Amino acid sequence: MSGEANSPFVLTTVDQMTRWAQRNSLWPLTMGLACCAIEMMALVTPRFDAARFGAEVFRGSPRQADLMIVSGRVCHKMVPVVRQLYEQMAEPKWVMSMGACASSGGTFNNYAVVQGVDQVLPVDVYVPGCPPTPEAVLQALVALQERIASGAARGALPANARPQAVGARA
Ligand code: SF4
Repeated sequence: MSGEANSPFVLTTVDQMTRWAQRNSLWPLTMGLACCAIEMMALVTPRFDAARFGAEVFRGSPRQADLMIVSGRVCHKMVPVVRQLYEQMAEPKWVMSMGACASSGGTFNNYAVVQGVDQVLPVDVYVPGCPPTPEAVLQALVALQERIASGAARGALPANARPQAVGARA
């Protein structure tokens, strides 16, 4: 958006306005897969207050959600469930891979666990750690918002672009 500070007018484009609205009203899906989900739940407590970023409205239905936080390891048995939930989510939609297990299988290098959720879903942002702190998840949320605002989030990414990792656990 642009305009003089004292002007009663704001000039922008529909595209910029849409991205502004999308970035400031992310609605995460209520979905927890393992221990990382406990840290994810802390996002909406007063201490971390995800409402500051417009992302506190965790939805019980995928049709009302546009952000999937994959919080925990993804077992192969869960892949059809996770994919169905993703497909039922509203467009446009984004995926955050939260924690070592979701991003790479973590310590579970075995036949039962998917070695990175990016094998089954398009991931927009990764959060390292075991578990990542709520602060790290908030940092990833802000990074995702910036990517949405700039048009660099999934859908506008060039084929060889890599999603960014943020906020390692201290
Ligand atoms: S990264 Fe750590 S906290 Fe998260 S699901 Fe794996 S073992 Fe649990």
